[in-house]
Amino acid sequence: MGLELFLYLTAGLLGLRSLLVSSAPIDNRPQSIYVPSVGKFWHISDLHLDPTYHVTDDHTKVCFSSKGHPASNPGEFGDFMCDSPYNLILSALEFMRQADPTPEFIIWTGDSPPHVPAKQLSTDMVISIISNMTHTIRSFFPDLPVYPALGNHDYWPQDQFPVSTNEIYQAAASLWEPWLKPEALLTLRNGGFYSKVVAPSLRLVSLNTNLYYSPNKETVNMTDPAGQFQWLVDTLEASRQSQEKVYIIAHVPVGYLPYAIRTTAVREVYNERMVEIFRAYSDVVAGQFYGHTHRDSIMVLLDHQGQPVNSLFVTPAVTPIKDALEPYSNNPGVRMYLYSTQDYSMLDIWQYYLNLTEANSEQKPSWKLEYIMTEAFDIEDIEPRALHKLALSFEKPQSKTFQKYFSHFMVGYNDSIVCEAFCKLIQVCAVQFLDHESYSKCIKKGNQGNGL
Ligand SMILES: [Zn+2]
Ligand SMILES: [Zn+2]
Repeated sequence: MGLELFLYLTAGLLGLRSLLVSSAPIDNRPQSIYVPSVGKFWHISDLHLDPTYHVTDDHTKVCFSSKGHPASNPGEFGDFMCDSPYNLILSALEFMRQADPTPEFIIWTGDSPPHVPAKQLSTDMVISIISNMTHTIRSFFPDLPVYPALGNHDYWPQDQFPVSTNEIYQAAASLWEPWLKPEALLTLRNGGFYSKVVAPSLRLVSLNTNLYYSPNKETVNMTDPAGQFQWLVDTLEASRQSQEKVYIIAHVPVGYLPYAIRTTAVREVYNERMVEIFRAYSDVVAGQFYGHTHRDSIMVLLDHQGQPVNSLFVTPAVTPIKDALEPYSNNPGVRMYLYSTQDYSMLDIWQYYLNLTEANSEQKPSWKLEYIMTEAFDIEDIEPRALHKLALSFEKPQSKTFQKYFSHFMVGYNDSIVCEAFCKLIQVCAVQFLDHESYSKCIKKGNQGNGL
């Protein structure tokens, strides 16, 4: 039995507990058989392919994405100073296919091109990298629908997403045509966003939050770039009327960055608007899934009374890259979500990772289970109530759950790095407080030494 398959089986046994009805080897392959009320989908994000990556003795020449800084310990599967070599991306997809080739679908939350200066890329190069990634993913999962969202790097120059049709929205629409319906392709071509019914009474909404991203100069002072807010409210209202549940996917997340004080990823005015919309439709939205920060984090949206109403998940990146000034990075990660096919509530996360240092030294990519959310944190499921309870436990001094959460935040990059005091304050406030007023209160309270 391969180690991956063994771990997968173990994951099934641990993660599903009562839902798992039997588990027996068939044709010498371990199979977990689940009752049909559990659905699964893969989430991948921030692949950031660097086509220049190659192992060479001159460490400043390993990859353009290190921007002249020396690579730290380059090997076949990458380096913490570089974006992904193609082999790393192949190994991630190969692992996913081996671990579960037939989930319900895959979500892919953007950022395919490498972190390099604008002059090293062009519109054509960005399109060709998105095309390469699209075809690569399809070649591993030819029969599976994949639902993508555009990332801030999926444009040239990066971040500058326009509010009307352009070469890149058009290219994305034609590349993703096999996965989407004509009405989805229409809004994708015009504004970079779409929605699609992906299961009975389940709609997936893919937002182009790059329109709201702080460095986007195209949308400065606009109240509703590309009319996406109006479209989102109309879509959620129609879903409520027809008793659909909605999963939101997007690249740049709503809320505050967990590693920078008082900083929202999208412009603050847009953040406030998103929070209000998600509060107003929290009965419709059954889960929110993001990328962009490259780190593993959760958020729980509270209503005006402080009650938890939505669960939000930020998935870690496939790329291991870190900035020269950053103290830490992330190992490459991919994850699977488990949900109830009865009401589309969120049941669990199985987070997988590649120990990059080990993969390079063994010249073999052994993707492994990093953790199962409900097991790691001893929670019932990953619904808002359970996540809120978990978030409250983080606040305790020397909280073991927070230490574990922070180790997962870096995808096990380095467990000797501790996050205390200021580091912990901004992490903990970002988990529970997504709007300006409540976040500011949390920071103020922490700074006065009450609670943290
Ligand atoms: Zn990224
Ligand atoms: Zn990004």
